[in-house]
Amino acid sequence: MSRIPLLLGALLLLSAPATAGLMDLLESIEAPEIESEGLLPPLPAEPGRGKNWVGTQTHNSDLPILVLAGHADSQKIAGSGTPGKAVDLGGAAPMQKGITDELFWNLLTAKQIVAEGQRQGLNMRFYDPGIRTIRNVEDPRTNWSTGSRHAKQGGYALEIHYDAYAPHGIGPGIIPSVLYGFSVLDEALADEFGGYPYDYRGMLGAPRRGVSMLEIGHLEGALESGLRDPNRRQATLNRIAKRVVRALRLGLVDSPMGSTVLLKGAVNEPVLGSGEEIGQ
Ligand SMILES: [Zn+2]
Repeated sequence: MSRIPLLLGALLLLSAPATAGLMDLLESIEAPEIESEGLLPPLPAEPGRGKNWVGTQTHNSDLPILVLAGHADSQKIAGSGTPGKAVDLGGAAPMQKGITDELFWNLLTAKQIVAEGQRQGLNMRFYDPGIRTIRNVEDPRTNWSTGSRHAKQGGYALEIHYDAYAPHGIGPGIIPSVLYGFSVLDEALADEFGGYPYDYRGMLGAPRRGVSMLEIGHLEGALESGLRDPNRRQATLNRIAKRVVRALRLGLVDSPMGSTVLLKGAVNEPVLGSGEEIGQ
């Protein structure tokens, strides 16, 4: 797959405040060619706005759920995630040298979700490639490769993200896996967080490979300060994890709370504000 032209890279270095927006844009340029391409549904004639899919694939409560931290293998290259508003505009130091704040929070959030899910009896595990820069996306250790193997075996793979601060990002919502049909789990997460169109940015690499992406929210304001404040950090992470696990349990058909979501699948639940364009 083609990497980003040098010109854009140079532009990225020159325009610090616009970094978050550009980073997102750069992520979207990827148009992966994978063997399963033929199984994907066609893109709509017009780019989707809001939720344009219904999750109907059901799963039992023993479903293996794999949770990934977005950008865990793509630091210091295009698609490393948002630095967050505190760092990019507020002059704050990054949470950890060498990685974006988004990855820092993706890692902690994904781990907390798995801990909470396991506590509530879900069959969940966390995967971290450990290596922070893997240039070849087809390397078997990447999030994409690991998530797509898991999905191919019938499991559910969810990659955690925080979105760039406004006006660059869109905000919270699930970007559903597309490859194996739309899941009731994504329907349940859309109920809780909102739903992106399945063809968001021309269909991203993860959904094309069977991996769903959850945007927790813009990395700014109350959410970001709740995470950054050591006194409120654990409570903030707990709150997010409980929301995710609750939604997943609602989506599992034979769990105690299950199957309610099945009856509710709906299209036309806009996640975008009226004036916002997708893929800008
Ligand atoms: Zn991200």
